[in-house]
Amino acid sequence: MTRAYLSLGSNVGDRAHHLTRGVALMSAGEAARVSRVYQSAPVGGVAQADFWNLVLEVETAVTPAELLARAHAAETAARRTREVRWGPRTLDVDIVWIDGVVHDDAQLTVPHPRMFERNFVLVPLRELRADLVDDDALARGEGLVRVLGTLESLQ
Ligand code: ATP
Ligand code: CA
Ligand code: CA
Repeated sequence: MTRAYLSLGSNVGDRAHHLTRGVALMSAGEAARVSRVYQSAPVGGVAQADFWNLVLEVETAVTPAELLARAHAAETAARRTREVRWGPRTLDVDIVWIDGVVHDDAQLTVPHPRMFERNFVLVPLRELRADLVDDDALARGEGLVRVLGTLESLQ
């Protein structure tokens, strides 16, 4: 078993609902831990609603490619559409970190190449894995994030 860290975000429709379903699909009955939910301004310059973000830790035996396929399936289950890059979406599931894994091919790069720029990844990840996000890493992160509470409290 390996521990993997997934960044989930939603800024269309019922954000708590999309995140809850995403957590359920990505953990698939296996042991999981989830950060609190944070509100963040979108990155990439497209005008759109604020995101709700969290980080999910899953214990998994599947390969990185299978984990990505599961992430895409969770996005499809939320009826995600892709119109513009970095545009609004019901659910985005990114693989940010897998313990002991460095992976880089046309479909998947792990660690996620932009994770250390993004406070909406770093702040919730630090709740679960303070060793991966030290004070210097946090100081270099960009973007305002505001804690909203636990996913359960937002239903
Ligand atoms: P960003 O990657 O900057 O967060 P995004 O999440 O909006 O942007 P998507 O359109 O969701 O980008 O993803 C495009 C493709 O990125 C995916 O289809 C997938 O093949 C690829 N990809 C590469 N590395 C990863 C990763 N670590 N996690 C998720 N997708 C990845
Ligand atoms: Ca993303
Ligand atoms: Ca993505």
